[in-house]
Amino acid sequence: MACTKYMAKGNSIGGGRYEQGQKRCPECEVFIEWEGLWCPCCGRMLRSKPRAKKLKHKLSLSRTR
Ligand SMILES: [Zn+2]
Ligand SMILES: [Zn+2]
Repeated sequence: MACTKYMAKGNSIGGGRYEQGQKRCPECEVFIEWEGLWCPCCGRMLRSKPRAKKLKHKLSLSRTR
């Protein structure tokens, strides 16, 4: 799987993956670190929120740094 090289590291961190900017691919079923909206591996749209609401509103990415 090509997504493995994008896979998010730090499994020790409990929760808050989405908050760290990690996204989940429903196809590969992995958390990846990817800036884009689509999986670089399979091309599926990534989930950037733990619970997908039916809001099509653009998410304001909080750049905590
Ligand atoms: Zn993949
Ligand atoms: Zn994927």
